[in-house]
Amino acid sequence: MTKWVYRFGAGHNEGRADMKNLLGGKGANLAEMASIGLPVPPGFTISTGVCTAYYDNHHQYPSDLKAQVDEALRAIEAAVGLTFGDTDNPLLVSVRSGARVSMPGMMDTVLNLGLTDQTVEGLARRSNDERFAWDSYRRFIQMFGSVVLNVDHHHFEEIIEHAKHNAGVIEDTALTAKDWKGVVEGYKDLVLRETGKPFPMDPQAQLWGAIGAVFGSWMNPRAITYRKLHDIPAEWGTAVNVQAMVFGNMGGDCATGVCFTRDPSTGTNLFYGEYLVNAQGEDVVAGIRTPQPLAKATAKPGEVSLEEAMPNAYAELMQVRATLEAHYKDMQDIEFTVQQNKLYMLQTRNGKRTAAAALKMAVDMAHEGLIDQAEAVMRVNPSSLDQLLHPMLDPKAPRTLLAKGLPASPGAACGTVVFSADEAESRAQKGEAVILVRIETSPEDIHGMHAAKGILTTRGGMTSHAAVVARGMGRPCVSGAGGISVDYAAQVLTAGGKFIRAGETITLDGATGEVFIGSVAMIEPVLSGDFGTLMEWADKHRRMGVRTNAETPMDAETARKFGAEGIGLCRTEHMFFDPERILAVRQMIMSSTETGRRQALALLLPYQREDFRKLFTIMAGLPVTIRLLDPPLHEFLPHQDVEMEEVAAALGVDMETIRRRGVELAEANPMLGHRGCRLGVSFPEIYEMQARAIFEGALAVEKETGNAPHPEIMIPLVATRKELEITRAQVEKIAAAVFAEAGHAIEYSVGTMIELPRAALIADQIAEVGDFFSFGTNDLTQTVFGLSRDDAGKFLPHYVDAGVLPKDPFVSIDVDGVGEMVRIAAEKGRRVKPGLKLGICGEHGGDPASIAFCEKVGLDYVSCSPFRVPVARLSAAQAALGAANDRTA
Ligand code: ADP
Ligand code: MG
Ligand code: MG
Repeated sequence: MTKWVYRFGAGHNEGRADMKNLLGGKGANLAEMASIGLPVPPGFTISTGVCTAYYDNHHQYPSDLKAQVDEALRAIEAAVGLTFGDTDNPLLVSVRSGARVSMPGMMDTVLNLGLTDQTVEGLARRSNDERFAWDSYRRFIQMFGSVVLNVDHHHFEEIIEHAKHNAGVIEDTALTAKDWKGVVEGYKDLVLRETGKPFPMDPQAQLWGAIGAVFGSWMNPRAITYRKLHDIPAEWGTAVNVQAMVFGNMGGDCATGVCFTRDPSTGTNLFYGEYLVNAQGEDVVAGIRTPQPLAKATAKPGEVSLEEAMPNAYAELMQVRATLEAHYKDMQDIEFTVQQNKLYMLQTRNGKRTAAAALKMAVDMAHEGLIDQAEAVMRVNPSSLDQLLHPMLDPKAPRTLLAKGLPASPGAACGTVVFSADEAESRAQKGEAVILVRIETSPEDIHGMHAAKGILTTRGGMTSHAAVVARGMGRPCVSGAGGISVDYAAQVLTAGGKFIRAGETITLDGATGEVFIGSVAMIEPVLSGDFGTLMEWADKHRRMGVRTNAETPMDAETARKFGAEGIGLCRTEHMFFDPERILAVRQMIMSSTETGRRQALALLLPYQREDFRKLFTIMAGLPVTIRLLDPPLHEFLPHQDVEMEEVAAALGVDMETIRRRGVELAEANPMLGHRGCRLGVSFPEIYEMQARAIFEGALAVEKETGNAPHPEIMIPLVATRKELEITRAQVEKIAAAVFAEAGHAIEYSVGTMIELPRAALIADQIAEVGDFFSFGTNDLTQTVFGLSRDDAGKFLPHYVDAGVLPKDPFVSIDVDGVGEMVRIAAEKGRRVKPGLKLGICGEHGGDPASIAFCEKVGLDYVSCSPFRVPVARLSAAQAALGAANDRTA
């Protein structure tokens, strides 16, 4: 018999925190909290295995599920002394979804399940509170009606609005038992009208209806979109939690709240949360009433903190906070309810956080001794470092404040206003920076939030949907900007008498909650403090080196600031395009004789020497890998008539000659044409000039600084041993000549890019004549797949969507194919030359998953663009520490 149902609470805990795969995050943590003695109402979890079985078996439950659920339900009844469906002492339960990882807003919880026209009377008698009983009943019908029966929730809200209007009150809490009875009647009529069936009055039917809705929602379009965005496989499934109700809506000594054990926005070690008196479930995040702060210290005038309103429950909550952090050793996001001054815990999970908060908490917790440095390194998602490296508003920049809301997710963003998620998506696709402005967001808006640079809502608190999702996505967000009113129909927002229409620009500061008219200048972030500390710890734990791909002094300097340990790829052709030199380059290409070419190259030599001198100076004492000319010569040819005339004049030839040469050089498939070392073999003088520039530049720097650089000269697109032999000889000949002229030699090495399958397969032969390999995984991906990157856009996105490929292989290395080539080449190369230095210089060198792969195959270093250097340092450390993937919980 398979165990499908796991109990928790009332001293009988069958689950644990590490059983998330089976019980989902919520269920596993409810059991864990209960087992460490926290007050958790008893319940049970139906495992994710049931979800999988349900979908595998034509939407049918395992046959023994019902008996297991019945038994677990009886255990709850026994624990709380109430009976499900009993007219005098009815047990009410919540039915809650919960997957392995939390998926915000995906599946909605049904509370107060078990209420019927009969049991509601029992609840009223037992609680001696009619208003509470009928409030609970109307909540149940509304939740069950919308979540399970798919009645549009607006219809329910209209009925409440109507009731409040009739009673002349503003807040829900002001409605009386009689008012709620009227609302319930209206609800039941509504359900009958909309579904054609009366609202179910059988608690068992309610229970199984809700369970079915949870499993059903796993496959709804919102859930599918969210999973796609977050790489969550459909096979994981969701669990269902059924739990005895506790009531935050029983009066003034009751409340419900959500909180974080530290500030999820900044990471500050302060208890951080919101609550509402006499409320239930999602009231806090729904934005119907304004939530109040937990701590007295953070309460603003007019607000009443939980600390003041319910000192006992608050003290208990503070205790729980300490217990949870000590137990989970991480910041927790918790949900609680206070029933008649007694605290109950309803959820805990590792809290979502901004990149800045993740960093601060990791460093703080290591300092506090809660975790060690290695664990701190593992806590920060490398990809999220991007957010910290992104600009903030320049404090000195002029600005015009439009309104202020809550600082829901930090970072600054500037863009044009759009009022719908679809609009945000379509404009962003065209390359426009947009700010999505909504009254509040819901899971239907996720694609638009993803597409937007920033998000602004006029309602909702720090734990609203917009705030939580934006923080998770790393989008700046200002929420609850009550001073702004939004008119979707007119496509305009208004604040303080000012109008901003769709398409006009605003700037958000997610760190302060401010919204500005127009665009505000931004500045680069600082890399010291916690960031520097974490990077230092990462460096201690990583094995691989981290270099950068750079050819300009500016890029090289940026990369040094970010901690690059040398250059892994300097693409010399970029230096040829400089307007000062392009004429000489063209002269070289045009000339039909070696002498002519050498004359032109002699003009280029001083420029190249200066290029290398600068790079060597910036990278003092560090390795610099220079790739000799790679692209086909036609790339440098003039295209416009004026340019051609200029070249013709300089060379003293006619336009016809220029055009003819252009035609001669044209190739049907330049990517596979006369490029890379093939040029070096055909025109030795090109590589000779470059080698001379490198050695002369290096000698100059040694003379200036006393510190000799170590040039690593890299020959591109080698497919045969002979090619490397020939080009290597060219370089060595020049080295000997230059060193003889100087009367002095320096160390250098000559190696190759491995970027063709043939090179990978015969890497043992190539290693005999090369000192190092650098995997050029951009070209290697193109040649392994037989796929041109420039043309892939037409179908590759569809391939990824349809699951033909798991990821874009140009972003994250294709481990099975391209990775296998790398593995073969590394093995064969090292078999011949055990000390062979191995690196990667494709764009994959900055991708966390690819870096983990590089660690596995034992590469010596990764090289990436300057802004990815910190990402690579952290990823390399995590890879060394054995991280399976780059995602934080
Ligand atoms: P979500 O996944 O959206 O956070 P939950 O299942 O956590 O949904 O339920 C939302 C809220 O419902 C909880 O935070 C809590 O306030 C309330 N809730 C859930 N179960 C119970 C219960 N057994 N008693 C009282 N309130 C509950
Ligand atoms: Mg929810
Ligand atoms: Mg919850």
